[in-house]
Amino acid sequence: MHLNQSNSLKQLHSEMLQCRQCLQAGYQIVPGAIFTGRQGARVLLIGQAPGVTEVEAKRPFNAGSGRRLFQWLGEAGWDENDFRNQHYMTAVTKCYPGKSDSGKGDRVPSKEEQWLCRSFLIREITLIRPRLIIPVGSLAIKLFFPSTLRLNEIIGTAIHLDSIVPSDQGVFNLSGGKAVKNFIADLPSSLVWVVPLPHPSGASLWPNQPENKALIDQAILMLQHIRQNYGL
Ligand code: SF4
Repeated sequence: MHLNQSNSLKQLHSEMLQCRQCLQAGYQIVPGAIFTGRQGARVLLIGQAPGVTEVEAKRPFNAGSGRRLFQWLGEAGWDENDFRNQHYMTAVTKCYPGKSDSGKGDRVPSKEEQWLCRSFLIREITLIRPRLIIPVGSLAIKLFFPSTLRLNEIIGTAIHLDSIVPSDQGVFNLSGGKAVKNFIADLPSSLVWVVPLPHPSGASLWPNQPENKALIDQAILMLQHIRQNYGL
């Protein structure tokens, strides 16, 4: 991981679009990073990796998984177009990884690809300085939460803390933060919130389980409350 400290988002975007590191490492990705957003965004959403329709549309969460994601964000009060225009959307790895060997769904990016792409994500977070980070799906969630925790222990939780600092391992340490699990009556003035959501792909059955649906509703309620109180 090379942490080139450019302080310009424009420069970073140019480097991301030109990057071929995973191809050079032997992975059959489709090069061309997919992300949207600009300086001034106050919400930063992180998915796993773009799919093939995202490559065609050149925007994250374009198709089926996007419909479900924007249904959840809509329940929290965000209009899809407004969210896409005002906030920042990126992924753990930013190029389409191709189909899985089984042919069912897309390949999950390897640990090496995730590591190769990590400095870009760290620089995005450092430059955007979002008020709210929404990691979507296990790959993004594991950058913030211990891998020993199960999804049903994480979804429905919001963490607030003063700043997000990447570790040498390229994950983000939330240990200094405070966890909230239900309606927040008196919001603290902490600088950053992290509210995870499960992957909205139709291939995942997790969100359909009634007990998990309740956890997603809890996360949506907290997103709604944070959005309203901080004008996001
Ligand atoms: S996934 Fe990330 S590291 Fe890999 S080629 Fe694309 S931009 Fe570069």
